Amino acid sequence: MADSFENNAQYPASPSLIPSGGANPVPVSRQQETQNRVAEISNLLSALDEAATESGVSIPNARALAAIQNESRMLEARLLMASSLLTALRHKHGPTATHSLSVALGCSCWAALAEIDEETRNTVELAALMHDIGKIGVPDRILEKTGRLTTAEKQIMDRHRQHAVDILKSCCGSERVLNAVRYAGTHFNDQDSQLTGKHLPLEARMIAIVDAFDAMTTDHVYRPARSREQALGELFEFAGTQFDPQLVQQFANTLSEQQDTLTAEIRSRWLGDLTSRGAGLPWANPGELAANPGGSFAGNVASLFEQKLIAAMQDGVVFVDGHAQITFWSKGAERLTGIRGSQAIGQCFTPSLLQMLDCTNQPVTDEDCPVAESLGNNTQLQQRRQIIGSHGEHAAVDLHIIPVQTQQGTVLGATILLHDAQEEASLEEKCAALHAEVTKDPMTKVANRAEFDRMLALYVEAHQQAAQPLSLIMVDIDHFKRINDNYGHQAGDKAIITLAKLLTSMCRPGDLVARYGGEEFAVLCADCGNADSAQRAEQIREKLAGMPHAYLANKCITASFGVTELEAGDTPESFLRRSDQALLLSKENGRDQVTQFGLGVEKGQPPRKWWQWRRRKRSPHAVESTLTSPVPIDVAIEKLRGFVSEHDVKIVSISDNKLEMEVSNATLNNHRRQSDRHMLFRVTLQFSEIRMEGINKAGISTGEYVRTRINLKILPKRPRRRRRADMTEHARLIHQRIKAYLMADKEEAQAEFEPTVGT
Ligand code: GH3
Ligand code: MG
Ligand code: MG
Repeated sequence: MADSFENNAQYPASPSLIPSGGANPVPVSRQQETQNRVAEISNLLSALDEAATESGVSIPNARALAAIQNESRMLEARLLMASSLLTALRHKHGPTATHSLSVALGCSCWAALAEIDEETRNTVELAALMHDIGKIGVPDRILEKTGRLTTAEKQIMDRHRQHAVDILKSCCGSERVLNAVRYAGTHFNDQDSQLTGKHLPLEARMIAIVDAFDAMTTDHVYRPARSREQALGELFEFAGTQFDPQLVQQFANTLSEQQDTLTAEIRSRWLGDLTSRGAGLPWANPGELAANPGGSFAGNVASLFEQKLIAAMQDGVVFVDGHAQITFWSKGAERLTGIRGSQAIGQCFTPSLLQMLDCTNQPVTDEDCPVAESLGNNTQLQQRRQIIGSHGEHAAVDLHIIPVQTQQGTVLGATILLHDAQEEASLEEKCAALHAEVTKDPMTKVANRAEFDRMLALYVEAHQQAAQPLSLIMVDIDHFKRINDNYGHQAGDKAIITLAKLLTSMCRPGDLVARYGGEEFAVLCADCGNADSAQRAEQIREKLAGMPHAYLANKCITASFGVTELEAGDTPESFLRRSDQALLLSKENGRDQVTQFGLGVEKGQPPRKWWQWRRRKRSPHAVESTLTSPVPIDVAIEKLRGFVSEHDVKIVSISDNKLEMEVSNATLNNHRRQSDRHMLFRVTLQFSEIRMEGINKAGISTGEYVRTRINLKILPKRPRRRRRADMTEHARLIHQRIKAYLMADKEEAQAEFEPTVGT
């Protein structure tokens, strides 16, 4: 139960706004009129409330404002000293102030019904109003904490009673009020307290009950409201320990009495002689409105309450009649638009009045007026638009149009809320700009390398989870250095931009084009298998190769492509590496071509083998090249020993300077995919010594030096047509490894050839 004292809400529910009965009885017909007006105001408040809830837009909570206005009037009328303190509390923590007022109303109501003497009633009202004033001294982080309080926080919170007494001492002469506040939180059976049981002040025992009841019947972030019955049950459960059992019973009796009558009576008592005035809201009486279209809202409104409520709102509030003619234009609307109420009232609410722009910065025509649309369809509308602001510049506003109708469904007009969204809009713009800056390549406007890396991981994960195909195309412009050298860097830049545009134009939504490096691009083809993406790559290649460029003296550029499809067990790295290797092969096979690793299947067609995508020659699956190592022959052989021992190589024969060995793809473990079959390669190395004469720049001999030439041949031990792509890939890997171990350069262009079966 203890936590229930830290709660804030209204009780009794929704007090009506206009005083009636009591000291200032109003005639019956007038009472009826008042009731109608109250119902209308209540409807308006509900509409505002709903608008706020539905839209999620932070418009000031109409009910909270109503409560504040209500408080102000009561306090101004009766409790001047408490008024300023409660105002301070409201600024500190609004819900606590509202809760205090509810507890005061509840106590007052109970005192009246139980016919408790006037002095006690005055005391309990004032003490209840002030019972939480000490929360002014509690840090916001504790007051607003949504979870349970820690022991230390609870200790701070518990001090609020003492703070309250300290605050009140300086401005309240009544010892009774001070004691009522001091003991309002004391348990009935607290043996540690100076006063206990029936010795506790009556007011304190009453406040303890109403305080707990109000807290329990109110929604909290950490606990939903309980029903009245549940709350009463709880009071009875703790009667005798926390609460005075007799008073719990008495309070329960008051709850079954005519609550509404009482509340009105209490309000009347507090409000003194404040009387209702004026007519209803602008659309309450269309006939009256029509007769006085330019009439100011102030003249029409029911009371100071509505005026203050709307004037206090930061958002603009506009009322229009059924013909979209403006009947009210709030101070907030004046602030936002720079248009004064006197200028606006009587005009039609049209987009042109506010020079409204839509989300694409195009003017909204009067034919597309959202207010007319809302009135016509009798539906709420919410839109972000730009309007001309008070400084003559366009600013973002959230327009919320709520049609107002009679109970019979006739549309009387609409309430238009104008919420200043400039800060939100500029924040959104800044975020978008920042996002673009971080993720886009400034020159080509496609994704940059960092974004590609991020998206590659996401695409791989998403496609693996959904068991959908995903392909990657790597593209690199051929001989790009020559373009820079021959036509300058600016022309080079233009070539890069051209390729980026071409790639983007040939992609589908959901694909990702990224600049991977200088003149290299990567294209992630979502939900797309090898066959389709290789075909797409071929189309791009063809288009680029046939596209003359003015900045290159009408010459064309070409690019090489590597394509692969995501396979089971792939990581983003292995997927990327395979595509890169395919690109490398395109380069080494003469550029301006597409190489695809893996098998692609086209829907409705027999599977095409990867080499069918190749534009030029059939792909070889064996490699032969001549390498030159900068070391003498014995050192080169020594270096080869490293490869032999680390790759579990079987030596087949050694003769003179020739070595034959068998290498398994299993030893290339970090390049081997789960799907790879076991393959054996026959590798032949023929070593020979070359002696060369060194010549310096001046053409003078620097003496003779020795190098090693290695003729290297790699063949599959058993060539299989079905595994041709994999064989070539692995033959190339073995070639690269040996070359690295020998520290060798390629002397002649590497050849890949079609071996005679069985060699
Ligand atoms: P290959 O066909 O083998 O790809 O030959 P290449 O000349 O295209 O390859 P290489 O990678 O050796 O050269 C790429 C050059 O691109 C090197 C670098 O100076 C240049 N480069 C990189 N980024 C830019 C850029 O943003 N603008 C320009 N103009 N040049 C760039
Ligand atoms: Mg290049
Ligand atoms: Mg490159």
